[in-house]
Amino acid sequence: MLALLVLVTLALASAHHSGEHFEGQKVFRVFVEDENHINLLHALANTNQIDFWKPDSVTQIKPHSTVDFRVEAEDISTVENFLEQNELQYEVLISNLRSILEAQFDSQVRATGHSYEKYNNWETIEAWTQQVASENPDLISRSAIGTTFEGRTMYLLKVGKPGPNKPAIFMDCGFHAREWISPAFCQWFVREAVRTYGREIHMTEFLEKLDFYVLPVFNIDGYVYTWTKNRMWRKTRSTYDGTKCIGTDPTEILMLGGAFIMSSRSPCDETYCGPAAESEKETKALANFIRNNLSSIKAYLTIHSYSQMMLYPYSYDYKLTENNVELNALAKATVKELATLHGTKYTYGPGATTIYPAAGGSDDWAYDQGIKYSFTFELRDKGRYGFALPESKIRPTCEETMLAIKHIANYVLEHPY
Ligand SMILES: [Zn+2]
Repeated sequence: MLALLVLVTLALASAHHSGEHFEGQKVFRVFVEDENHINLLHALANTNQIDFWKPDSVTQIKPHSTVDFRVEAEDISTVENFLEQNELQYEVLISNLRSILEAQFDSQVRATGHSYEKYNNWETIEAWTQQVASENPDLISRSAIGTTFEGRTMYLLKVGKPGPNKPAIFMDCGFHAREWISPAFCQWFVREAVRTYGREIHMTEFLEKLDFYVLPVFNIDGYVYTWTKNRMWRKTRSTYDGTKCIGTDPTEILMLGGAFIMSSRSPCDETYCGPAAESEKETKALANFIRNNLSSIKAYLTIHSYSQMMLYPYSYDYKLTENNVELNALAKATVKELATLHGTKYTYGPGATTIYPAAGGSDDWAYDQGIKYSFTFELRDKGRYGFALPESKIRPTCEETMLAIKHIANYVLEHPY
């Protein structure tokens, strides 16, 4: 009986991530010029089930931008008619999401179990945190910073040669569940750190002088849900009294006061900010850890996808940071370094002006805690695959992102504060 149950569960899981549910779904890109176009998209979103990919919600569309969204198969002709009747310029980014999702698993790596060039499920990542720490006891220690809403342990890896009073860089991955390339990068970073320590001069210096705190998956419950039930899930999996809708946007929940203005107060929205700041267990664990280690944490990096951008505060307001000129110069040099490997072009700038005023990324929150070097990375690609980036892109994406992170680490070492 148990064996049968396991088989059924496995079959269901593979059906889900092979993408059958997404048969016939399309992803559109609409070119938005003015307020009239924005109003039209609001109207469209009000009458149809639309999953906004970029920006995160209909409220964040700004003039002279592009908007990517996913449409259920049965709504496609309605949506296409609407776009054409209103003369909205658009293209189809993905004509059948199912085939794109099936193509994700194109890794040539045959290994079962953990692989740095495949997407690993949470169970595999969790076992890996234990293994990589026990295999590298002189460089890595693992701790738990909290538990998720569904009771999973949030593991944090501290990577660096033990020493007194070391400055640190905090990096988290997997804020938004469907951005699978993000946890893949955190794993890659840890592997590269231990692989090149003692062999490569820069990494050796970094690990001797700095500590890296790496949180491989922040929104673990959401990540598990993308593997078992809905590949396109974004939020956490928490529930609140008085609503049947599940989940909170974990980036938005960190923010306080004015930051809430731009985020959603409606629990059914993908950018729902939660009933109060830090109402999520995951967010509280992260915020507590960072607050307790503020004296050592000199940089905060949060890894997302997609759109190839390097953003810095602020996103919740058009105001600029006190060290805006410095952040701009650092971002410019970092994306230049990133592009040297595969020619991948990133845009950069303060969140609000580069994309749209949003509820604020967690980089805004970290900056306001006093962490001067706070950045959001939006990794590959620019919409060809969106959240369904194929596994064959993990290596080039992670290789070039390593260059960026190392550039920042070097800068942090040279600019103590
Ligand atoms: Zn994200």
